[in-house]
Amino acid sequence: MNTRDTLFVKDNDLYIGGFKATDLAAKFGTPLYVMDAAYIAEVADAFVSAMKTYGEGGVAFANKAFATVATAKLAAKHGLWFDVVSGGELYLVKQAGVDMKKVLFHGNNKTPREIDEGIAAGVGYFVVDSFNEIELLDKKAAEAGAPQDVLVRINPLVTAHTYEAVVTAAPGSKFGFAVDGDAFETVKDIVSRKGLRFRGLHVHIGSQIYDHSSYDRAVEVITAFMRRLADEGIETDILDMGGGYGIYYTEKDPHFTPRRYAYTVENIGRKVAECAEKEGIRKPFLIVEPGRSIVGEAGVTLYTVGAIKDFPGIRKYVAVDGGMFENPRYALYESEYSAVVASRAGEPETETVTLAGKCCESGDIVAKDIPLQHAETGDIVAVFSTGAYNYSMASNYNLNAVPPVVLVDGDRADYIVRPQTYEDLLRNNEVPDWMN
Ligand SMILES: *Cc1c(COP(=O)(O)O)cnc(C)c1O
Repeated sequence: MNTRDTLFVKDNDLYIGGFKATDLAAKFGTPLYVMDAAYIAEVADAFVSAMKTYGEGGVAFANKAFATVATAKLAAKHGLWFDVVSGGELYLVKQAGVDMKKVLFHGNNKTPREIDEGIAAGVGYFVVDSFNEIELLDKKAAEAGAPQDVLVRINPLVTAHTYEAVVTAAPGSKFGFAVDGDAFETVKDIVSRKGLRFRGLHVHIGSQIYDHSSYDRAVEVITAFMRRLADEGIETDILDMGGGYGIYYTEKDPHFTPRRYAYTVENIGRKVAECAEKEGIRKPFLIVEPGRSIVGEAGVTLYTVGAIKDFPGIRKYVAVDGGMFENPRYALYESEYSAVVASRAGEPETETVTLAGKCCESGDIVAKDIPLQHAETGDIVAVFSTGAYNYSMASNYNLNAVPPVVLVDGDRADYIVRPQTYEDLLRNNEVPDWMN
């Protein structure tokens, strides 16, 4: 576990903010997503101040990592911009009262309706990612009477060292225009259109990346591309370097701190400034788009242990009251997590167990073969670093309710997402008249 002021063990109990994890579980029930507001704020502030060392820029929170109105408000209060990737996320940031000029609309296949909604909402930038979108957006923005600012998603063909499923810049990726392919002509085409205003370029090379050299490579490639555009008289005002900074999940990962994330952004900024100078182009307005690193370690999921099954020499299952419906990441990526028994968090981990979920799938695992304190039925287990891509990927599979989310801020703990009821699960069900 990656302890900090707001996540620590005292007298054998796990604490989150001012609360004992077992008290939160008793008050709000399990499974429960707990988010630590202080950590989110601290990382956001670190990113924003790191960007100041570069100069003009913005730090956009990738809303898809954890999408709630309350955390969007918190992020906005700390000066963050927003990435949205759907009409739903756009609606969310509107409800949170976010400044639309600081919203970037991403997505490799925005629907006509989403394009309309983005224009109507006045989003600052569309990050265009296909010819179809360029055609449609040009036409609709011209009809609306105001050219739309756009960034163009470029695939820099830089392979980051991370899991295959989260690499987004390999050859043949579904994202972006290939830097050695259509990218150049695409930008020229955009510049020639009345409904669009070319403002800059975007790259996002993947997620859960530790290695600075991947970002450095991407900066080199993209600034060389900016030079090519400059030779055609096309200025790139904005460079958006995406997100993807890795977080701590298990002992195999480095222990990150907000300061370390700041350092990553400072490094990217330094590299951009250096390459801009080398290429003889103007230093761009720089955007970064962290998602996981802002909310990932802020999240802890609390479960109650139910069934325990031991297959000596093979595996011991400790089943919890959650699973792939509230954390599908093992099923999707074979992701790894670390955990503790919340009331024995200071004791040594004497067993190797697999935390299994309650869904009707063998692949419904929360964490496989992890070290854990001895757990008994009824104990509260805490799984760490669940703030990103857990709640936002949750479903109602097996008609399990998506767990509520509680935001802890010092001595306050409040729902930011209420528990779903059985009624909620059937809310949109209809029985056609002819069946009655
Ligand atoms: C997912 C995504 C991000 C955020 O990635 P993290 O790994 O969560 O930091 C940023 N930009 C784009 C375009 C994305 O798709």
